Amino acid sequence: MLVVSAHSADFVWRAAGAIALHTRDGGEARIVSLSYGERGESGELWKQPGQTEENVKRVRHAEAETAATALGASFEAMDLGDYPLHVDDAAVDRLAELMRDFAPDVVLTHPDKDPFNPDHPVAYTATQQARLLTSGAVVSAGFRTAPPSEFLVFEPHQPDLCGFVPTVFVDITPVMDRKLEAMEAMGAQQYLRSYYTERAGHRANHARKVTGRPEIRQAEAFQRIIPNVVSAL
Ligand SMILES: [Zn+2]
Repeated sequence: MLVVSAHSADFVWRAAGAIALHTRDGGEARIVSLSYGERGESGELWKQPGQTEENVKRVRHAEAETAATALGASFEAMDLGDYPLHVDDAAVDRLAELMRDFAPDVVLTHPDKDPFNPDHPVAYTATQQARLLTSGAVVSAGFRTAPPSEFLVFEPHQPDLCGFVPTVFVDITPVMDRKLEAMEAMGAQQYLRSYYTERAGHRANHARKVTGRPEIRQAEAFQRIIPNVVSAL
């Protein structure tokens, strides 16, 4: 699993459960953060007198690493800067190269639209581009490829305003303790903890309605970008 996060905490709120399930079942999960969110998503850290951008990045890196470790995943940051996040051609190439080497079965990132955040759609575009440069087409490509991966976007903060329509619910009940631990590591954005704990409960309600399975207590929502293919219905 490859998770591309615009800022270094985004993966925690939106996909920590899915990541923890993937690694619990023996999968390898790699989190790539395009920036640290040092300017736009580190408000609490900037309240400290004498704060510097370099120190904010250091703290954010440590927090994200702790969170990723709690989920059994690895964390790496491309440090491209945030608000605004600029992903140039070289960075897209880097991401594509990483996808060719790692050959993920599933790629997760942000949705393509977010009226409240300038960077999240940039992460989508870069991930989409890199994935297309990696998977090529059905015919042989003139460049090195990796097998096509599943491609889903995780739930944004205000889903209805981002055109997000959930098509997949993941039952994260068995790993909710991992998600709570990962969220706990995000000292700079503690106010989001209760918000995303509640969200997991709401999505579980929806997942129970779909399946009739009362044991689902927490869930995460995702939207498929490409169809899933089955052998039979
Ligand atoms: Zn973000």
